[in-house]
Amino acid sequence: MERTLSIIKPDGVGHGLIGEVIRRFEKNGIKIIAMKMVHLSLDDARKFYAVHKERPFFNSLTAFMTSGPIVPMILEGENVIEKNRTLMGATNYKDAAEGTIRRNFATDIEKNIVHGSDAPETAAIEIKFFFNELEICERG
Ligand code: ATP
Ligand code: MG
Repeated sequence: MERTLSIIKPDGVGHGLIGEVIRRFEKNGIKIIAMKMVHLSLDDARKFYAVHKERPFFNSLTAFMTSGPIVPMILEGENVIEKNRTLMGATNYKDAAEGTIRRNFATDIEKNIVHGSDAPETAAIEIKFFFNELEICERG
């Protein structure tokens, strides 16, 4: 059993897509075992995206991620890291497969609705960034 961190980004929340994203997870047999809504400070966003700090889009990305509330969730399931990435689609919505969240709803390479951890190590770090043990529900 694997866990991953999903985030509905400020554009997803702003466009009224919280329910749609969650529906896709549930329809695909992915369990949500933790969820909250938070508005990150710039400091928080810079920490969360520290791996990208040398990238040309870092300032723009952190400004975007602090532009409104976001919905971080922990997803659980077999192979859920890859499953979630498949449901999300490619980073650039123009390259994303038909029917994926990003292909259906993203408006820009940056404003791409959702985040998903890309490996078990990053999933563990990202989950800890948003949730403590008490906030995680063992749903059996
Ligand atoms: P995420 O980490 O959000 O799940 P990802 O793993 O598909 O997305 P990354 O390469 O980790 O993509 O980039 C992190 C985020 O930075 C992207 O989701 C997007 O919002 C933004 N981003 C990535 N590349 C660019 C770019 N060339 N120009 C602007 N923003 C970008
Ligand atoms: Mg990434």
